Amino acid sequence: MNNEYNLNKNIKINVPDAVRIIIKILESNGYEAYAVGGCVRDTILGRKPQDWDITTSALPLQVKELFHKTIDTGLQHGTVTVMIKGVGYEVTTYRIDGEYTDSRHPDSVEFTSNLIEDLKRRDFTINAMAYNPNCGLVDAFEGIEDIKKCVIKCVGDGRERFTEDALRILRAVRFSAQLGFEIEEKTAAAAKELAPTLVNISQERICAELEKLIKSDHPQMLETAYNLGITKWILPEFDKMMECEQNTKYHMYNVGIHTIKVMQKVRPEHYIRWAALLHDIGKPDSKTTDKEGSDHFYNHGRNGKELARSVMRRLRLDNRTIGIVTRLVECHDLIIDIKETEVSVRRSIHDIGNDIYPMFLELIQADSDGKSQLAIEHNQGHIDYVRDTYNRIIERGDCYCTKMLALAGRDVIRLGVEPGPGVGDVLDELLEMVLDNPKLNTKEQLEEIVIRIKNKMK
Ligand code: ATP
Ligand code: MG
Repeated sequence: MNNEYNLNKNIKINVPDAVRIIIKILESNGYEAYAVGGCVRDTILGRKPQDWDITTSALPLQVKELFHKTIDTGLQHGTVTVMIKGVGYEVTTYRIDGEYTDSRHPDSVEFTSNLIEDLKRRDFTINAMAYNPNCGLVDAFEGIEDIKKCVIKCVGDGRERFTEDALRILRAVRFSAQLGFEIEEKTAAAAKELAPTLVNISQERICAELEKLIKSDHPQMLETAYNLGITKWILPEFDKMMECEQNTKYHMYNVGIHTIKVMQKVRPEHYIRWAALLHDIGKPDSKTTDKEGSDHFYNHGRNGKELARSVMRRLRLDNRTIGIVTRLVECHDLIIDIKETEVSVRRSIHDIGNDIYPMFLELIQADSDGKSQLAIEHNQGHIDYVRDTYNRIIERGDCYCTKMLALAGRDVIRLGVEPGPGVGDVLDELLEMVLDNPKLNTKEQLEEIVIRIKNKMK
């Protein structure tokens, strides 16, 4: 038994108390139980696991009997969530998967009493290890060896595994991006061969993996995804970027590689990484070449906005993300239109919106850093001016939107302007003046201006 399990007693994993208790309760009732998958891999790698999953020989109803508080997460797939001190732990019965279609779970599953059968159905060797504080590490597929070698390798035959569930093809790249691992040769070859079958996978599942890939420490693995023919099926717009050269003195990479550089330079945070990924999506369709042979991409931010929106819709991203990211895509190349005056920067806060302005600054900095040395020298002073001026304006509390005016709509009405659209027009006019001169933003001065405007309107 021990040989088959390839038990490694030397590896000790620090298991949280709740997981230890769940395993102990299951064992003392005659079942086997192990922490399994991502949590084992991550603790061995010194990374903090997202969550702790437990695999057990107990059937779902048997698990439910043993714990006070449980949730039926997916009884037919063997999963019960055990709640301990408000935290959920997924406890899943050892199982053998049937066919996968394009859903999250296989069509049918068969429960088994053999841990190895359960580990065998898992995607990669590094994800197919189980740990139990008494027995140690069960590593039947050389997961530790592959962790040492820093490789992502399928459990068993890659072609078979990817045929069962094509999402695993994208997961291979995702794990390689998160861990900085290489994809083992045969696994990569199988991924390349079966990449077209990714069309069968739901957009939700694709998006969840893509999100993890682009938010990882190595978003440059997107280039590997391109080379393996994966992006062609999940993000063909990226292929167009990779195939869009930028023959200009301000660039040294094609649009796709530049995009990767920008992703690497922004924080690994949801909105800004999506914005970095999509910021130049409008370039391939906006490209023109002048008589001297230099490429231009006029209005690519504005042109890219709709394309970015359709990509994010297709991937079923939420409306808030779609809203913020399309705004960032649209405004990122407006930095050149901002003049080096306080008025112009204040106007840009109004136009871009203060809610995304810090992300706008982060994006334009990364965008510039991902260009040629000449562009960097050209841009940096301007970016510094805009950032410093922005900080000064915000610190001083200058007004940059209607809400911040010292007068509200009801004050304008009180001063004799007819209720209706005229009130908004007056506020707009006040804002225009205050953007030019923030010192005007006092009740007295604005009241005077309203009276003047009113008299003019007569
Ligand atoms: P993360 O840290 O992102 O949660 P993870 O390895 O825990 O990574 P999950 O998607 O949470 O990944 O899956 C938990 C475990 O279930 C995996 O480690 C793997 O053993 C198995 N698994 C998940 N998805 C698949 C799949 N599509 N095919 C085979 N095994 C899978
Ligand atoms: Mg997980």
